[in-house]
Amino acid sequence: MKRAGVAHPENVMFKLKCPQHPSPIWFNRGALAEHVGRVLPNGTVDAVGHVLELLQGELPPAGTEVIVNLYRDYVSAEPADEYRARVAREKAEEDARRKAYHEERARDLRQRQDRAQKRAEEVNGALNIPVRWTSGLKTVLSGLSQNSSGTGDNARSVAHVLLLEPVTEGRFERPAKTFLCTSSAGSNGKVWTERLHTRSHGSQSEYVSEITCRQCLKLAQRWTDTSARIEPELVTD
Ligand SMILES: [Zn+2]
Repeated sequence: MKRAGVAHPENVMFKLKCPQHPSPIWFNRGALAEHVGRVLPNGTVDAVGHVLELLQGELPPAGTEVIVNLYRDYVSAEPADEYRARVAREKAEEDARRKAYHEERARDLRQRQDRAQKRAEEVNGALNIPVRWTSGLKTVLSGLSQNSSGTGDNARSVAHVLLLEPVTEGRFERPAKTFLCTSSAGSNGKVWTERLHTRSHGSQSEYVSEITCRQCLKLAQRWTDTSARIEPELVTD
């Protein structure tokens, strides 16, 4: 009997009659419970201690190793070579699907990060603050600073202008290490000693977080001289 080498796996599958009293081994399922049988010269299949007769389909040549599985009213059988090739192909397809999925997720994340960074550069780039500054987070009551994932996902964390140098312009005064929105008369006007600066993580690099505090953005509008503008700096320690 001839079988085409490129036969579709479904074409080489066949059915056998169920054993009358199936051994419990039949009911072990899963990848580790692969039931192997062999086609006998008399046109039956020796499998899991039973000799099974053909029910439907075409029997491969005597001696062919087959993989068998018990169903309610038949036993499915498939030549082992085809079975293993099919399993390997299905695994490769699944791996490729999974890889494509993860690549798409990674690409989406990069795109979100890039959009968030571009937006931060635009917003911060429109501020003409004339002293050194970076982005900062106010310390919450627990003593933990709010973390920014930098992907724009946590819109709740408000980034302030954190001054790294003092500003004195008449009555407008801010010491270094304070937020632009916090006047020295305010309860938060003390000079903070703990870490206040924050930064965001882009797909390629870290960057100064987008300033989202409305008060800071509003106050920064007092400076309109772009030539006196100082680029925000990334503080990483
Ligand atoms: Zn602020």
